[in-house]
Amino acid sequence: MSEHIDTVVIGVGQAGLAVSRELGVCGVEHVVLERARVAQAWRDRWDSFTLVTPNWTMDLPGTPYAGQDPEGHVPCDEIVGYLENYCSTWDAPVREGVAVNSLRAANGSSFELDTTLGPIAAHNVVVCTGSFRIPFRPPAGELPPGVPAIDALEYRSPAGVPAGKVLVIGSGQTGCQLAEELFLAGREVFLSRGRAPWMPRRLDDVDTFTWLARVGFFDQPLNALPSPAGRLLANPQTTGAAGGHDLHFRTLQRLGVVLLGRLAGIDGHRASFVDDLGASVAFGDARCVEWRALLAGELPAQGYAAPELPIAGPFHYDPVTEVDLHDIGVVIYTTGFRPGYRWIELPVCDDLGFPITDSGTSPHPGLFFCGVHFMRVRRSATLFGVGLDAALVATSVASSRGPGSGLTPAPRRKSPSSSRG
Ligand SMILES: Cc1cc2nc3c(=O)[nH]c(=O)nc-3n(C[C@H](O)[C@H](O)[C@H](O)COP(=O)(O)OP(=O)(O)OC[C@H]3O[C@@H](n4cnc5c(N)ncnc54)[C@H](O)[C@@H]3O)c2cc1C
Repeated sequence: MSEHIDTVVIGVGQAGLAVSRELGVCGVEHVVLERARVAQAWRDRWDSFTLVTPNWTMDLPGTPYAGQDPEGHVPCDEIVGYLENYCSTWDAPVREGVAVNSLRAANGSSFELDTTLGPIAAHNVVVCTGSFRIPFRPPAGELPPGVPAIDALEYRSPAGVPAGKVLVIGSGQTGCQLAEELFLAGREVFLSRGRAPWMPRRLDDVDTFTWLARVGFFDQPLNALPSPAGRLLANPQTTGAAGGHDLHFRTLQRLGVVLLGRLAGIDGHRASFVDDLGASVAFGDARCVEWRALLAGELPAQGYAAPELPIAGPFHYDPVTEVDLHDIGVVIYTTGFRPGYRWIELPVCDDLGFPITDSGTSPHPGLFFCGVHFMRVRRSATLFGVGLDAALVATSVASSRGPGSGLTPAPRRKSPSSSRG
């Protein structure tokens, strides 16, 4: 016999919590299922992880950041603490340790969930399981036996990876941060590039994320990207580590990290790399120029003097196109993730695997999503954007409950919670 629950939210990261809170505001009874623990994705990050965006971005509905350092970068345990505290502010109906193995349609607009605690029947389902769940490795050939490889998710600290030189493949935010940490821990590090933008950490003592938030950069919709595949592009190279500082190809090169082009192939113990590092640096520099124009164009109208975004000088390098894998102690793939919604047995995702929605409402009746990258706007899957989306989703869930559901009609909700930026 299936347990029947009117509305099931799946996943207890910030998206699931914000949706739960906003469903409560709308008077919708619900249960939130989590395969592990509250804020598990943040718990799973490496030991020294710090918030990349400034602290003020911990801004979920009803609980803005209340600390003393809005422009700083808290360590991961404080992010987890913020989410645990958030969860307790309205006694969220969370069931931890319950994984949903599959979700399928049953009897028209109802759903059947196969969970580790048995089947559940639901009228509405809100999927909040995180945008990117499947680690992606470039199809460049198999590593030879004896050369261990891990994905970013498995990395915890320099002491936890095999001794020897390290080859990091992928130079987005995570790749640069791990390369820096490993180099500072005394490892010889090779970093193979992907294409990523970079930004100075601060301009005129204000975080660049804060400047960009002021000009609405994070409110850009999906069609601001050259193509939908732009959702798979890496986040800007930067870091919140040690108080936050610049971190990109130039700083890593100055440090002593050996920069390589794109991984071309692996043949036995020989890894070869394209001589395209210059093009990669030029790509990141071009994004900086775009941001410079955006800030210069938009900030004066808002009463701010636009900060000077420095123009990067020429980038010189001696191409290294081959690495002998006999010398490498571990390969770390930081080449990103792909969406992971295959356990939903319904045709509700696009060719890239992202859910198709209108502000979180799937064309499939009763199915909703939240916490999806660019679901509505650029910040949809962030700590400072998901709240607005959650409010819209909750309102849609509430109004989707037609007569005969046997539930109290949802009260008219107040306008969505405000969020800085
Ligand atoms: C390295 C990294 C750094 C980031 N830094 C920042 C930052 O500085 N600032 C910022 O705003 N954003 C940042 N983000 C982006 C985003 O805020 C995080 O990815 C955040 O964890 C997303 O929250 P979420 O609730 O959407 O998903 P998640 O936090 O991934 O939560 C999903 C939850 O669903 C659970 N789950 C998954 N599948 C199932 C299932 N089938 N059944 C039951 N439970 C399930 C998971 O266990 C998990 O707890 C970062 C992302 C990454 C990867």
